[in-house]
Amino acid sequence: MIDLHSHTHFSDGDLAPSDLIARASKLGLEYLAITDHDSVSAFQSLSRNNAKRTETSPLLTISGLDGGLISGLEVSCQWEGLEIHVLGLFVDVNNPVLTDLLTKQQERRRQRAIAIDLKLQRNGITGLSAYLGTLPCDAISRSHMADFLVEQGHSKNKQHAFTKWLGRKGKAYVVADWCEFGEAITAIHEAGGIASMAHPDRYTLSRPRFRRMVADFCDAGGDAMEVSYSNLNPGSLGHLADLCEQHGLWATAGSDFHSPSHHWMDLGKIRMMPAACRDRAIWHHPVWQQHIGKLPALVSTAVEPSGA
Ligand code: AMP
Ligand code: MN
Ligand code: MN
Ligand code: MN
Repeated sequence: MIDLHSHTHFSDGDLAPSDLIARASKLGLEYLAITDHDSVSAFQSLSRNNAKRTETSPLLTISGLDGGLISGLEVSCQWEGLEIHVLGLFVDVNNPVLTDLLTKQQERRRQRAIAIDLKLQRNGITGLSAYLGTLPCDAISRSHMADFLVEQGHSKNKQHAFTKWLGRKGKAYVVADWCEFGEAITAIHEAGGIASMAHPDRYTLSRPRFRRMVADFCDAGGDAMEVSYSNLNPGSLGHLADLCEQHGLWATAGSDFHSPSHHWMDLGKIRMMPAACRDRAIWHHPVWQQHIGKLPALVSTAVEPSGA
């Protein structure tokens, strides 16, 4: 079993990297990719505790994971005023083009948090910056801000915090000035990685605009698309597989795990890849073959035999 999309407490996940890996091990995962929002700190923290790691290898040998840990990230990009997420897989986390981009993105996150704090203060809510300063993350997200609003009793749950305060129509909404596709994809490629569009059906786009967005992603050099992920409408699976075929994209799969409390997005909870994109599955990609050199052991269980 593989999972190529997960978060730790260095972005908006709940678990420390070692706890995330322990969970993956318990669930029997062979390969796991950590893909924090605009951060690769999980790998820096693990390499400090893992002498086996060669400095620039994007595959870490980790006890408990039969295959290994793949170094990745999830970059927030802007496209026509919308936020689109691009995964980078098998990246060299020390590559300077990548680390420069992450420094910029994390600074954008800090500036946005300051602006949101000011808007909240104007509405009588104080203490956001002090709260954020206590967290282990280096990529501050609105998910943390939603936790703050819930913990302080200003919102009854996270969804409410997004609707009333942090979402596009919320009172404290601030537009983020994320990088464009091209910059994210170039940095991922410079770092030797594969760029995959994250959760394509979670963006609210009309069908023609969605097609334009995918075409722009491909023109910018995008390599792959997440075809299988948790919460994916089964009807969309075949559609995404067709899109991969049409655009010559590779297909990736990952749960987008954030927290053990989100049982519907647990590690490894992904739909089988449709047979239509079996030959485009990421484990056939030259970069996978270069670093891993073989298919995942459970590849047969990760592919739907008769299409879907
Ligand atoms: P950011 O990247 O800082 O803009 O924050 C976006 C993150 O907040 C996403 O990656 C989700 O984890 C989370 N998020 C976004 N919208 C919602 C929502 N409506 N309810 C709960 N969490 C959300
Ligand atoms: Mn998130
Ligand atoms: Mn995402
Ligand atoms: Mn994610």
